[in-house]
Amino acid sequence: MVNEKKVTVIALGGNAILKPGQRGTIAEQMANVEETCGQLAQMVESGCYKIIVTHGNGPQVGNLLLQNEAGKELAAPMPLHICGAQSQGMIGFMIQQSLHNTLAARGKGDIPIATVVTQVVVDKDDPAFDSPSKPVGPFYSEEEAKRLETEKGYHVREDAGRGWRRVVPSPDPVEIFEKKAIRQLVDARTIVIASGGGGIPTVRENGNIHGVDAVIDKDLAGEQLAEDLGAKIFLILTDVEQVKLNYKTPQEEGLSQISLDEAKRYLDEGHFAKGSMAPKMGAAIRFIEAGGERAIITSLDRAVDALEGRAGTTIRS
Ligand code: ADP
Ligand code: MG
Repeated sequence: MVNEKKVTVIALGGNAILKPGQRGTIAEQMANVEETCGQLAQMVESGCYKIIVTHGNGPQVGNLLLQNEAGKELAAPMPLHICGAQSQGMIGFMIQQSLHNTLAARGKGDIPIATVVTQVVVDKDDPAFDSPSKPVGPFYSEEEAKRLETEKGYHVREDAGRGWRRVVPSPDPVEIFEKKAIRQLVDARTIVIASGGGGIPTVRENGNIHGVDAVIDKDLAGEQLAEDLGAKIFLILTDVEQVKLNYKTPQEEGLSQISLDEAKRYLDEGHFAKGSMAPKMGAAIRFIEAGGERAIITSLDRAVDALEGRAGTTIRS
């Protein structure tokens, strides 16, 4: 079909839901989500894309963990992977409602939108389980941290002079467990929100699956989602318009269109910071290697321009 809509996975960065310095009130989060949905609605309106949305959850899960900690005598605290599930529901709901209202204002209120609480399968033998590295939740005193280590088996670490924190493994995504359900929804023209916060880390054991306390990078999980759904486009929206070489140096240079080989070379040369741009570029590389057509990294406000080749950084084979 000439005008077949391209399945496009959109990974929303932290700033799509919460901006730096905000406390995270529901009014703040909804206002940000409304702005984000304006961009998503333009993509829907163009009629060219079938969109699947994924998003981060760092600040939201951080707040849930703080609430659990503060209220632990009053209500049973929930483990990290349950907080992950909670945050998917919360953020998914905000996007569902706001995107519906935005589309309805444009005469497209009949488009179905649904959030899928998503489990992402990881390998129980992933080396990340032997070296937890991702800090989560509240800061503790050394004494408190050591107590949690003994009592709960937490891994704890001093975090850059700011206090002690729990660290959890960050394993690689292997499979989106709900991929068939998501595929059916997408085929039925539903806009799906899935794999929020990198998904709920899940391992297979003795024929069952169960959640584990870990954090999967949301860009790598987004790539797995794009791959498992056979998406043509993987669009990573963050807070910079383009990926840069020699970032924050006098030699800084924006990248517009690059090949897979160039992307790999720049990654190897260390142009992209660990924990921020490196996983995005790594995810883009994986997507193209798995047969994807285009991976794009750009800012939220340039999403539509970038899809039309007028902004952002595009990686192709
Ligand atoms: P998100 O919430 O969207 O995942 P991150 O903070 O993880 O956001 O990643 C985006 C950040 O990556 C940018 O704000 C920028 O500071 C940083 N960054 C690191 N290296 C680069 C680079 N080479 N080019 C552009 N941005 C970079
Ligand atoms: Mg990030």
